[in-house]
Amino acid sequence: MFRGAIVFGFLISFAAAMFWTAQSGLKSTVDSAIAANAERKARNWADYLAHTMPDLDALLQTGVPDEAQNATIETAVQVGDVFRFKLFDANGRLVLISDERGTPLEPGAKADHNGHARSVLETGAAVIEVNDGTEKANRPDLYVEAYVPVPGADGKAVGVVEVYLDQSQVASLFRANFVQLAFVLGGVLLLMFGVPFVAYIVKMRQQVRTGEKVRMLSLVDQITGLNNRNSFFQQAEERRRNGKLDLARTAVIFIDIDKFKAINDTFGHKTGDEFLRHVGNAISSHLGPSDLAARIGGDEFVLLAVDRTDEELYDLIEGVRTTVSEPVRLDGIAITGHLSVGVYLEQGGGLGLEDRMHKADIALYQAKLLGRNTCVVFTPDLEDTIARRRLVEEAVICGLSADRFELYFQPLIDPVGSRVVGFEALLRLQDGQGTFIPPSEFIPIAEETGDIIPIGTWVLEQAIRTAVDWPEHMFVSVNLSTRQFEDGRLTEHVSQFLSDYGFAARRLELEVTESLLIEQSHNASQQLKDLRDLGVTIAMDDFGTGYSSLGYLWQFNFNKLKIDRSFVQSIGQGDGKSREILDTIIMLGHKLDMKVTAEGIETKEQAAVLETLACDHFQGFYYGEPMPLSEMAPYLMEHSVLPLVREDKDAGRDREKAAG
Ligand code: C2E
Ligand code: CA
Ligand code: CA
Repeated sequence: MFRGAIVFGFLISFAAAMFWTAQSGLKSTVDSAIAANAERKARNWADYLAHTMPDLDALLQTGVPDEAQNATIETAVQVGDVFRFKLFDANGRLVLISDERGTPLEPGAKADHNGHARSVLETGAAVIEVNDGTEKANRPDLYVEAYVPVPGADGKAVGVVEVYLDQSQVASLFRANFVQLAFVLGGVLLLMFGVPFVAYIVKMRQQVRTGEKVRMLSLVDQITGLNNRNSFFQQAEERRRNGKLDLARTAVIFIDIDKFKAINDTFGHKTGDEFLRHVGNAISSHLGPSDLAARIGGDEFVLLAVDRTDEELYDLIEGVRTTVSEPVRLDGIAITGHLSVGVYLEQGGGLGLEDRMHKADIALYQAKLLGRNTCVVFTPDLEDTIARRRLVEEAVICGLSADRFELYFQPLIDPVGSRVVGFEALLRLQDGQGTFIPPSEFIPIAEETGDIIPIGTWVLEQAIRTAVDWPEHMFVSVNLSTRQFEDGRLTEHVSQFLSDYGFAARRLELEVTESLLIEQSHNASQQLKDLRDLGVTIAMDDFGTGYSSLGYLWQFNFNKLKIDRSFVQSIGQGDGKSREILDTIIMLGHKLDMKVTAEGIETKEQAAVLETLACDHFQGFYYGEPMPLSEMAPYLMEHSVLPLVREDKDAGRDREKAAG
């Protein structure tokens, strides 16, 4: 309002200044216009006088008009705007003043005092004086004294007449026009400068308003209406300064939506935003008056819960989690989401907010590692877990380029004829210090980061390239991760490597787990079929651990079943049912035209039991542990034919240590 008045006032002053500039500039223009007008009139009038005045020469001589001349003078002073005139002779001497006739002028008395008459006689150019008559008696408000030559019969000047012209009417007319003009000009100037100026002012105001809006927007998360990262820190700091936030009595809660990316990818970003809003609402509805909440990242929220007992804190977190995990209809689609939560609630202590948040984040990270949809409270040992995780991740990421991956090979035995029929390729990774990281640790991480895709391709090529040199009857078995089916190039890679190394497809076995079929993604069944069409053997690994759906076995036409080692290891334990279960699985496999491998055979006893079953292939530490390439030749020389149950040597887990 106030600012508006200032702008308006400024504009008025600006317009006035424009007008004044235009008007003062025009005053001289008006004067010269009047002068020009007067000169033109005076010359015409002088012509008129010269032609109508009887015996002008005599009059110029004497200065005393006769009767006829007086009559002409009377008429002349009524012609046009003339109210008076003076007559000078050819020498510039004043001979007659129209309103002071009768008495001849005394020579030199009122002569050409200013020299204008003589100047006119000499140059022929008129002399014009514009005079203000407002203060003078018998004078109009504005009049002109115009000295113009009186033309003789031959056109040459015979004298000079000083004509008094009343120009007040003309002037007011001119002025009126020029004032209009001034207004027009002022308007034009206003348009030229004022309008851009106003536009500038308006723009500035808009900018200020936009700035305010941007500031507002920059403080509030547009999707959830909670604080954003900046305002969260600002408010926390402000509350801390005002004594309203005591970190020592505050729990820091990190909340992350599980698989939010999948919600976004599957249902679109609009629905993704709706879901964020849903979570934001769930958080808001459980907030206490002194709590502070914010969305600080894509799907990450932070909550400062002040002065809560453990139970209250539990209720708060479970309340939010329960609200979110109830199905919600967004855009006509029912969506169920889950939250992972990390909490830091160490009472007391001198840690700052950022450190506390970091620890809550570590707890959240752990919640994710534990399979999501859970809440983890920070404990100091978590930091080690996370540090370890980082180390492994780093090893995975740079493993290929730093040449830290290596394939080990574990023999597969055919009980009929007791010979080594193939090897399973098992991946090994060393950290920067040359220590082995177990596959159970690095494979899931590589799957998470997606690095398993190039790593898996590398394994395939290495395995084929190595197995090419083995005796013709031996195959190599390679483990595939579900994620390797994602980029759709698996079959292409396999057939490429087979042809590159001239390796027969029947000598390659690919092991997949049930999860591939359960997720039913990336057209996996078609890719499996394509691989089978290449002539490659497809084995279902770890059978018995997951859903172990017979339907899958039936549907996907596996060539081979690998019974999980947990079945083998239960041999000799409990009620002795495991032998029967194994027997049933093997029979079932054979009924479905599959070969069956028993994994994890560690003891003589397990080997002896399995020998009585019609199992096709045996695998386990009892026959041979995974070994580096360098140990394969000596192993094969020693074990080209293996006794199924050995008396001499009992393989143990100890050598497994070498393999991590
Ligand atoms: P898996 O496919 O079930 O591989 C067999 C695992 O059992 C190997 O563990 C092997 O060392 C171990 N093993 C073999 N015989 C015995 C035994 O008698 N007793 C016991 N306790 N264990 C035995 P490893 O090498 O640690 O591999 C673990 C898992 O990592 C593998 O399980 C497989 O799922 C995965 N893996 C290994 N290499 C690769 C790979 O190249 N790609 C993919 N995607 N996964 C791999
Ligand atoms: Ca395997
Ligand atoms: Ca297995």
